[in-house]
Amino acid sequence: MVKVFIPRERRPGESRVAATPETVRRMAKLGLEVAVERGAGAAALFHDADFEAAGARLVDDPADAWETADVVLKVTPPGAFEGLPGHEAEGLKPGAVLIGFLAPHRNLDMVRILATGNVTSLALELVPRVTRAQTMDALSSQASIAGYKAVLLAAWRLPKYFPLLMTAAGTIKPARVVVMGAGVAGLQAIATAKRLGAVVEVSDVRPAVKEQVESLGGRFIELPLAESGEGQGGYAREMGEDFLRRQREIVQRHLAAADAVITTALVPGKPAPRLVTAEMVRAMRPGSVIVDLAVEQGGNVELSQPDREVVENGVLILGPSNLAAAMSHDASLLYARNVLSLLQILLDKEGKLAPDLADEIVAGTLLTHAGSVVHKPTAERLEIQEVPA
Ligand code: NAD
Repeated sequence: MVKVFIPRERRPGESRVAATPETVRRMAKLGLEVAVERGAGAAALFHDADFEAAGARLVDDPADAWETADVVLKVTPPGAFEGLPGHEAEGLKPGAVLIGFLAPHRNLDMVRILATGNVTSLALELVPRVTRAQTMDALSSQASIAGYKAVLLAAWRLPKYFPLLMTAAGTIKPARVVVMGAGVAGLQAIATAKRLGAVVEVSDVRPAVKEQVESLGGRFIELPLAESGEGQGGYAREMGEDFLRRQREIVQRHLAAADAVITTALVPGKPAPRLVTAEMVRAMRPGSVIVDLAVEQGGNVELSQPDREVVENGVLILGPSNLAAAMSHDASLLYARNVLSLLQILLDKEGKLAPDLADEIVAGTLLTHAGSVVHKPTAERLEIQEVPA
Protein backbone atom coordinates (compact mmCIF):
# COMPACT_ATOMS: atom_id res chain seq x y z
CA MET A 1 0.00 0.00 0.00
CA VAL A 2 1.34 3.43 -0.92
CA LYS A 3 1.91 5.50 2.22
CA VAL A 4 1.06 9.20 1.91
CA PHE A 5 2.09 11.69 4.59
CA ILE A 6 0.82 15.24 5.09
CA PRO A 7 3.03 17.17 7.55
CA ARG A 8 2.12 20.38 9.33
CA GLU A 9 3.54 23.38 7.48
CA ARG A 10 6.26 25.00 9.58
CA ARG A 11 7.16 28.11 7.58
CA PRO A 12 6.28 31.29 9.49
CA GLY A 13 3.01 32.74 8.20
CA GLU A 14 1.95 29.56 6.41
CA SER A 15 -1.51 28.46 7.47
CA ARG A 16 -2.53 26.19 4.58
CA VAL A 17 -2.41 22.41 4.47
CA ALA A 18 -1.82 20.11 1.49
CA ALA A 19 -4.77 17.77 2.15
CA THR A 20 -8.27 18.15 3.55
CA PRO A 21 -10.69 15.56 4.92
CA GLU A 22 -12.29 15.59 1.43
CA THR A 23 -9.05 14.66 -0.37
CA VAL A 24 -8.07 12.18 2.37
CA ARG A 25 -11.36 10.36 1.81
CA ARG A 26 -10.64 10.25 -1.93
CA MET A 27 -7.09 9.01 -1.34
CA ALA A 28 -8.38 6.26 0.96
CA LYS A 29 -10.81 5.21 -1.79
CA LEU A 30 -7.87 4.96 -4.18
CA GLY A 31 -6.32 2.45 -1.78
CA LEU A 32 -3.69 4.78 -0.31
CA GLU A 33 -2.69 4.71 3.35
CA VAL A 34 -2.82 8.31 4.60
CA ALA A 35 -1.06 9.76 7.64
CA VAL A 36 -1.62 13.37 8.74
CA GLU A 37 0.51 15.13 11.33
CA ARG A 38 -1.62 16.07 14.33
CA GLY A 39 -2.67 19.71 14.02
CA ALA A 40 -1.66 19.95 10.33
CA GLY A 41 -5.02 21.44 9.32
CA ALA A 42 -5.73 23.46 12.46
CA ALA A 43 -4.77 26.87 11.03
CA ALA A 44 -7.03 26.19 8.03
CA LEU A 45 -9.88 25.01 10.28
CA PHE A 46 -9.62 21.34 9.31
CA HIS A 47 -9.76 19.34 12.51
CA ASP A 48 -7.82 16.22 13.45
CA ALA A 49 -11.06 14.34 14.18
CA ASP A 50 -12.33 15.07 10.66
CA PHE A 51 -9.08 13.81 9.10
CA GLU A 52 -9.41 10.67 11.22
CA ALA A 53 -13.04 10.17 10.25
CA ALA A 54 -11.98 10.49 6.59
CA GLY A 55 -9.58 7.57 7.02
CA ALA A 56 -6.27 9.18 8.00
CA ARG A 57 -3.97 8.03 10.77
CA LEU A 58 -2.85 10.90 13.01
CA VAL A 59 0.89 11.16 13.53
CA ASP A 60 2.70 12.76 16.47
CA ASP A 61 6.28 12.15 15.32
CA PRO A 62 6.77 13.86 11.94
CA ALA A 63 10.40 12.72 11.60
CA ASP A 64 9.36 9.08 11.56
CA ALA A 65 6.51 9.76 9.12
CA TRP A 66 8.85 11.59 6.69
CA GLU A 67 11.17 8.56 6.72
CA THR A 68 8.53 5.92 6.06
CA ALA A 69 6.36 7.81 3.53
CA ASP A 70 6.24 6.87 -0.15
CA VAL A 71 4.62 10.23 -0.92
CA VAL A 72 4.77 13.52 1.00
CA LEU A 73 2.32 16.30 0.16
CA LYS A 74 3.39 19.84 1.05
CA VAL A 75 2.31 23.41 0.50
CA THR A 76 5.72 25.10 0.89
CA PRO A 77 9.26 23.78 0.28
CA PRO A 78 10.70 21.45 2.95
CA GLY A 79 13.15 23.18 5.27
CA ALA A 80 15.13 22.90 8.49
CA PHE A 81 12.89 23.95 11.35
CA GLU A 82 13.22 24.08 15.11
CA GLY A 83 12.14 20.90 16.85
CA LEU A 84 13.04 18.66 13.89
CA PRO A 85 16.25 16.56 13.87
CA GLY A 86 17.38 17.93 10.47
CA HIS A 87 16.22 19.29 7.12
CA GLU A 88 12.81 17.84 6.27
CA ALA A 89 14.00 16.81 2.79
CA GLU A 90 16.81 14.70 4.32
CA GLY A 91 14.16 12.53 5.93
CA LEU A 92 12.74 11.31 2.62
CA LYS A 93 13.68 7.77 1.61
CA PRO A 94 15.18 7.04 -1.83
CA GLY A 95 12.44 6.74 -4.45
CA ALA A 96 9.92 8.73 -2.37
CA VAL A 97 7.73 11.29 -4.13
CA LEU A 98 7.41 14.88 -2.93
CA ILE A 99 4.71 17.22 -4.28
CA GLY A 100 4.37 20.90 -3.37
CA PHE A 101 5.27 24.48 -4.26
CA LEU A 102 9.05 23.98 -4.15
CA ALA A 103 10.35 27.39 -5.38
CA PRO A 104 13.53 25.69 -6.65
CA HIS A 105 15.39 28.89 -7.59
CA ARG A 106 15.16 30.09 -3.98
CA ASN A 107 15.91 26.69 -2.43
CA LEU A 108 18.94 25.33 -4.24
CA ASP A 109 20.23 23.56 -1.12
CA MET A 110 16.93 21.71 -0.83
CA VAL A 111 17.12 20.74 -4.53
CA ARG A 112 20.59 19.31 -3.92
CA ILE A 113 19.32 17.26 -0.96
CA LEU A 114 16.39 15.95 -3.01
CA ALA A 115 18.61 14.96 -5.94
CA THR A 116 21.29 13.23 -3.86
CA GLY A 117 18.57 11.51 -1.83
CA ASN A 118 17.07 10.03 -5.02
CA VAL A 119 13.73 11.73 -4.38
CA THR A 120 11.21 12.21 -7.18
CA SER A 121 10.06 15.77 -6.57
CA LEU A 122 7.31 17.56 -8.48
CA ALA A 123 7.02 21.35 -8.20
CA LEU A 124 3.49 22.64 -8.60
CA GLU A 125 4.69 25.95 -10.00
CA LEU A 126 6.05 23.99 -12.99
CA VAL A 127 2.75 22.32 -13.98
CA PRO A 128 2.36 23.09 -17.70
CA ARG A 129 -0.71 25.18 -18.50
CA VAL A 130 -2.34 22.65 -20.79
CA THR A 131 -6.06 21.87 -20.68
CA ARG A 132 -5.55 18.41 -19.12
CA ALA A 133 -3.60 19.99 -16.24
CA GLN A 134 -6.17 22.63 -15.32
CA THR A 135 -7.32 20.67 -12.25
CA MET A 136 -3.67 20.66 -11.05
CA ASP A 137 -3.09 24.38 -11.59
CA ALA A 138 -2.31 25.47 -8.05
CA LEU A 139 -0.67 28.69 -9.24
CA SER A 140 -4.05 29.77 -10.62
CA SER A 141 -6.16 28.61 -7.66
CA GLN A 142 -3.92 30.50 -5.24
CA ALA A 143 -3.40 33.58 -7.47
CA SER A 144 -7.13 34.02 -7.73
CA ILE A 145 -7.41 34.13 -3.94
CA ALA A 146 -4.54 36.63 -3.75
CA GLY A 147 -6.24 38.91 -6.29
CA TYR A 148 -9.48 38.84 -4.33
CA LYS A 149 -7.81 39.45 -0.97
CA ALA A 150 -5.62 42.25 -2.35
CA VAL A 151 -8.72 44.27 -3.17
CA LEU A 152 -10.26 43.59 0.24
CA LEU A 153 -7.00 44.69 1.86
CA ALA A 154 -6.97 47.92 -0.14
CA ALA A 155 -10.64 48.58 0.69
CA TRP A 156 -9.96 47.90 4.38
CA ARG A 157 -7.06 50.34 4.56
CA LEU A 158 -8.56 53.06 2.32
CA PRO A 159 -10.17 55.89 4.29
CA LYS A 160 -12.94 56.03 1.67
CA TYR A 161 -15.91 54.06 0.37
CA PHE A 162 -15.44 51.88 -2.73
CA PRO A 163 -19.02 52.27 -4.10
CA LEU A 164 -20.88 55.34 -5.29
CA LEU A 165 -23.19 56.36 -2.47
CA MET A 166 -26.14 58.72 -2.54
CA THR A 167 -26.92 59.61 1.03
CA ALA A 168 -29.04 62.21 2.79
CA ALA A 169 -25.74 63.96 3.50
CA GLY A 170 -24.86 64.07 -0.19
CA THR A 171 -23.10 61.95 -2.77
CA ILE A 172 -19.86 59.99 -2.35
CA LYS A 173 -17.92 59.33 -5.54
CA PRO A 174 -16.86 55.73 -6.24
CA ALA A 175 -13.23 54.80 -5.58
CA ARG A 176 -10.88 54.61 -8.57
CA VAL A 177 -8.83 51.42 -8.72
CA VAL A 178 -5.96 50.72 -11.12
CA VAL A 179 -5.02 47.06 -11.68
CA MET A 180 -1.70 46.39 -13.38
CA GLY A 181 -1.33 42.93 -14.86
CA ALA A 182 -4.57 41.13 -15.70
CA GLY A 183 -3.64 37.45 -15.48
CA VAL A 184 -5.41 35.17 -13.03
CA ALA A 185 -4.82 37.38 -9.94
CA GLY A 186 -5.49 40.63 -11.81
CA LEU A 187 -8.77 39.44 -13.33
CA GLN A 188 -10.01 38.35 -9.91
CA ALA A 189 -8.94 41.74 -8.51
CA ILE A 190 -10.90 43.53 -11.25
CA ALA A 191 -14.01 41.41 -10.62
CA THR A 192 -13.80 42.00 -6.85
CA ALA A 193 -13.25 45.76 -7.13
CA LYS A 194 -16.16 46.01 -9.58
CA ARG A 195 -18.43 44.05 -7.21
CA LEU A 196 -17.53 46.55 -4.50
CA GLY A 197 -18.59 49.34 -6.84
CA ALA A 198 -15.24 50.90 -7.78
CA VAL A 199 -14.31 52.34 -11.17
CA VAL A 200 -11.54 50.04 -12.43
CA GLU A 201 -8.80 50.80 -14.96
CA VAL A 202 -6.37 48.14 -16.14
CA SER A 203 -2.96 47.96 -17.76
CA ASP A 204 -1.51 44.84 -19.41
CA VAL A 205 0.80 44.13 -22.33
CA ARG A 206 -1.05 41.14 -23.81
CA PRO A 207 -3.65 42.42 -26.28
CA ALA A 208 -5.92 39.39 -25.63
CA VAL A 209 -6.52 40.76 -22.14
CA LYS A 210 -8.47 43.82 -23.31
CA GLU A 211 -11.63 41.86 -24.08
CA GLN A 212 -11.45 39.96 -20.75
CA VAL A 213 -11.03 43.22 -18.84
CA GLU A 214 -13.96 44.84 -20.61
CA SER A 215 -16.19 41.81 -20.05
CA LEU A 216 -15.60 42.33 -16.30
CA GLY A 217 -16.54 46.00 -16.56
CA GLY A 218 -12.96 47.35 -16.39
CA ARG A 219 -11.52 50.06 -18.64
CA PHE A 220 -8.40 49.03 -20.56
CA ILE A 221 -5.55 51.55 -20.64
CA GLU A 222 -4.23 51.50 -24.22
CA LEU A 223 -0.44 51.22 -24.62
CA PRO A 224 1.64 52.00 -27.71
CA LEU A 225 2.55 48.38 -28.50
CA ALA A 226 4.62 48.06 -31.67
CA GLU A 227 4.35 44.29 -31.30
CA SER A 228 2.32 42.04 -29.02
CA GLY A 229 3.50 41.66 -25.44
CA GLU A 230 2.46 38.02 -25.54
CA GLY A 231 5.30 35.51 -25.32
CA GLN A 232 5.31 31.73 -25.07
CA GLY A 233 2.46 29.71 -23.55
CA GLY A 234 0.06 32.67 -23.27
CA TYR A 235 2.35 34.49 -20.80
CA ALA A 236 3.79 37.97 -21.22
CA ARG A 237 7.27 38.45 -22.67
CA GLU A 238 9.87 40.75 -21.18
CA MET A 239 9.40 44.27 -22.56
CA GLY A 240 12.33 46.60 -23.25
CA GLU A 241 13.18 49.51 -20.96
CA ASP A 242 11.98 52.04 -23.59
CA PHE A 243 8.53 50.47 -23.64
CA LEU A 244 8.35 50.28 -19.84
CA ARG A 245 9.27 53.98 -19.59
CA ARG A 246 6.51 54.89 -22.05
CA GLN A 247 4.08 52.64 -20.17
CA ARG A 248 4.96 54.37 -16.88
CA GLU A 249 4.36 57.80 -18.46
CA ILE A 250 0.88 56.74 -19.64
CA VAL A 251 -0.09 54.93 -16.45
CA GLN A 252 1.15 57.79 -14.25
CA ARG A 253 -1.88 59.94 -15.19
CA HIS A 254 -4.21 57.15 -14.04
CA LEU A 255 -2.27 56.56 -10.84
CA ALA A 256 -2.43 60.26 -9.92
CA ALA A 257 -6.23 59.97 -9.83
CA ALA A 258 -6.35 56.51 -8.20
CA ASP A 259 -7.44 55.61 -4.68
CA ALA A 260 -6.13 52.04 -4.84
CA VAL A 261 -3.59 50.30 -7.05
CA ILE A 262 -3.19 46.52 -7.28
CA THR A 263 -0.09 45.31 -9.14
CA THR A 264 0.21 41.69 -10.27
CA ALA A 265 2.44 41.90 -13.38
CA LEU A 266 4.87 39.01 -13.90
CA VAL A 267 7.05 37.65 -16.68
CA PRO A 268 8.00 33.94 -16.33
CA GLY A 269 11.60 33.39 -15.24
CA LYS A 270 12.37 37.14 -14.99
CA PRO A 271 12.23 39.72 -12.22
CA ALA A 272 8.84 41.47 -12.04
CA PRO A 273 8.66 44.51 -14.37
CA ARG A 274 9.11 47.82 -12.57
CA LEU A 275 5.82 49.62 -13.25
CA VAL A 276 5.56 52.17 -10.42
CA THR A 277 8.57 54.27 -9.45
CA ALA A 278 9.03 56.20 -6.20
CA GLU A 279 8.45 59.40 -8.16
CA MET A 280 5.09 58.08 -9.42
CA VAL A 281 4.08 57.26 -5.84
CA ARG A 282 4.95 60.81 -4.75
CA ALA A 283 2.59 62.12 -7.45
CA MET A 284 -0.30 60.04 -6.04
CA ARG A 285 -2.94 61.32 -3.63
CA PRO A 286 -2.10 60.92 0.08
CA GLY A 287 -4.37 58.30 1.64
CA SER A 288 -4.32 56.02 -1.40
CA VAL A 289 -3.24 52.40 -1.05
CA ILE A 290 -0.99 50.24 -3.23
CA VAL A 291 -0.92 46.44 -2.92
CA ASP A 292 2.06 44.89 -4.74
CA LEU A 293 1.41 41.19 -5.32
CA ALA A 294 4.63 40.82 -7.32
CA VAL A 295 6.75 41.67 -4.26
CA GLU A 296 8.32 38.18 -4.02
CA GLN A 297 9.60 38.45 -7.60
CA GLY A 298 11.23 41.82 -6.91
CA GLY A 299 8.07 43.93 -6.97
CA ASN A 300 6.22 46.01 -9.57
CA VAL A 301 6.51 48.96 -7.18
CA GLU A 302 9.93 50.41 -6.44
CA LEU A 303 9.20 51.08 -2.77
CA SER A 304 7.34 47.90 -1.82
CA GLN A 305 8.91 45.52 0.70
CA PRO A 306 7.86 41.93 1.45
CA ASP A 307 5.37 41.83 4.32
CA ARG A 308 6.12 45.37 5.42
CA GLU A 309 4.09 48.55 5.32
CA VAL A 310 5.77 51.51 3.69
CA VAL A 311 4.29 55.01 3.71
CA GLU A 312 5.53 57.54 1.15
CA ASN A 313 3.93 60.96 0.80
CA GLY A 314 0.91 59.58 2.69
CA VAL A 315 0.51 56.68 0.24
CA LEU A 316 0.40 53.27 1.94
CA ILE A 317 2.34 50.55 0.09
CA LEU A 318 1.70 46.94 1.08
CA GLY A 319 3.74 43.97 -0.16
CA PRO A 320 2.00 40.81 1.10
CA SER A 321 4.10 37.82 0.06
CA ASN A 322 1.59 35.07 0.80
CA LEU A 323 -1.91 36.47 0.60
CA ALA A 324 -3.46 33.09 -0.27
CA ALA A 325 -2.55 31.94 3.25
CA ALA A 326 -4.73 34.73 4.61
CA MET A 327 -7.70 32.73 3.35
CA SER A 328 -6.32 29.42 4.56
CA HIS A 329 -9.52 27.36 4.52
CA ASP A 330 -10.63 27.85 0.93
CA ALA A 331 -7.03 28.14 -0.26
CA SER A 332 -6.37 24.68 1.23
CA LEU A 333 -9.60 23.23 -0.18
CA LEU A 334 -8.55 24.18 -3.71
CA TYR A 335 -4.84 23.48 -3.24
CA ALA A 336 -5.50 19.99 -1.84
CA ARG A 337 -7.62 19.17 -4.90
CA ASN A 338 -4.85 20.43 -7.21
CA VAL A 339 -2.32 18.22 -5.39
CA LEU A 340 -4.53 15.14 -5.49
CA SER A 341 -5.14 15.58 -9.23
CA LEU A 342 -1.40 15.54 -9.80
CA LEU A 343 -0.88 12.56 -7.48
CA GLN A 344 -3.54 10.60 -9.35
CA ILE A 345 -1.65 10.71 -12.64
CA LEU A 346 1.36 9.15 -10.88
CA LEU A 347 -0.65 6.06 -9.88
CA ASP A 348 -1.45 2.98 -11.93
CA LYS A 349 -4.81 1.17 -11.90
CA GLU A 350 -3.88 -0.78 -8.75
CA GLY A 351 -3.06 2.43 -6.89
CA LYS A 352 0.72 1.83 -7.06
CA LEU A 353 3.21 4.59 -7.83
CA ALA A 354 4.16 4.39 -11.51
CA PRO A 355 5.05 7.87 -12.80
CA ASP A 356 5.08 7.96 -16.60
CA LEU A 357 8.06 10.18 -17.31
CA ALA A 358 6.95 10.59 -20.93
CA ASP A 359 3.67 12.20 -19.86
CA GLU A 360 3.94 15.92 -20.68
CA ILE A 361 2.52 16.96 -17.29
CA VAL A 362 4.86 14.69 -15.30
CA ALA A 363 7.85 15.63 -17.46
CA GLY A 364 7.08 19.35 -17.19
CA THR A 365 6.56 19.28 -13.41
CA LEU A 366 9.49 17.06 -12.44
CA LEU A 367 12.22 18.83 -10.47
CA THR A 368 14.44 15.93 -9.38
CA HIS A 369 14.36 12.22 -10.23
CA ALA A 370 16.69 9.24 -9.90
CA GLY A 371 19.57 11.27 -8.52
CA SER A 372 19.41 14.14 -11.04
CA VAL A 373 18.01 17.64 -11.23
CA VAL A 374 15.64 17.24 -14.17
CA HIS A 375 14.41 20.84 -14.39
CA LYS A 376 16.96 22.45 -16.71
CA PRO A 377 16.92 26.08 -15.43
CA THR A 378 17.44 24.81 -11.86
CA ALA A 379 20.24 22.43 -12.95
CA GLU A 380 21.95 25.37 -14.69
CA ARG A 381 21.60 27.56 -11.59
CA LEU A 382 23.17 24.82 -9.47
CA GLU A 383 26.09 24.45 -11.88
CA ILE A 384 26.75 28.20 -11.82
CA GLN A 385 26.71 28.10 -8.01
CA GLU A 386 29.12 25.17 -7.93
CA VAL A 387 31.69 26.66 -10.32
CA PRO A 388 33.78 29.14 -8.27
CA ALA A 389 34.00 32.59 -9.89
P1 NAD B 1 1.41 35.95 -14.78
O1 NAD B 1 1.19 35.73 -13.32
O2 NAD B 1 2.62 35.40 -15.41
O3 NAD B 1 1.41 37.52 -15.09
C1 NAD B 1 0.37 38.35 -14.63
C2 NAD B 1 0.01 39.36 -15.69
O4 NAD B 1 1.02 40.35 -15.79
C3 NAD B 1 -0.17 38.79 -17.09
O5 NAD B 1 -1.47 39.09 -17.57
C4 NAD B 1 0.90 39.51 -17.90
O6 NAD B 1 0.50 39.77 -19.25
C5 NAD B 1 1.03 40.82 -17.12
N1 NAD B 1 2.21 41.64 -17.41
C6 NAD B 1 3.49 41.27 -17.66
N2 NAD B 1 4.27 42.36 -17.92
C7 NAD B 1 3.46 43.45 -17.79
C8 NAD B 1 3.66 44.84 -17.91
N3 NAD B 1 4.83 45.37 -18.26
N4 NAD B 1 2.59 45.64 -17.71
C9 NAD B 1 1.38 45.16 -17.37
N5 NAD B 1 1.13 43.85 -17.26
C10 NAD B 1 2.15 42.99 -17.46
O7 NAD B 1 0.12 35.48 -15.59
P2 NAD B 1 -0.96 34.41 -15.21
O8 NAD B 1 -1.88 34.93 -14.20
O9 NAD B 1 -0.23 33.17 -14.87
O10 NAD B 1 -1.75 34.24 -16.57
C11 NAD B 1 -1.10 34.24 -17.84
C12 NAD B 1 -2.06 33.74 -18.91
O11 NAD B 1 -2.23 32.33 -18.79
C13 NAD B 1 -3.44 34.32 -18.83
O12 NAD B 1 -3.92 34.52 -20.13
C14 NAD B 1 -4.25 33.24 -18.18
O13 NAD B 1 -5.62 33.32 -18.48
C15 NAD B 1 -3.61 32.03 -18.80
N6 NAD B 1 -3.83 30.83 -18.02
C16 NAD B 1 -4.11 29.67 -18.68
C17 NAD B 1 -4.30 28.48 -17.97
C18 NAD B 1 -4.59 27.20 -18.66
O14 NAD B 1 -4.83 27.18 -19.83
N7 NAD B 1 -4.55 26.11 -17.94
C19 NAD B 1 -4.20 28.51 -16.60
C20 NAD B 1 -3.90 29.70 -15.95
C21 NAD B 1 -3.69 30.86 -16.68
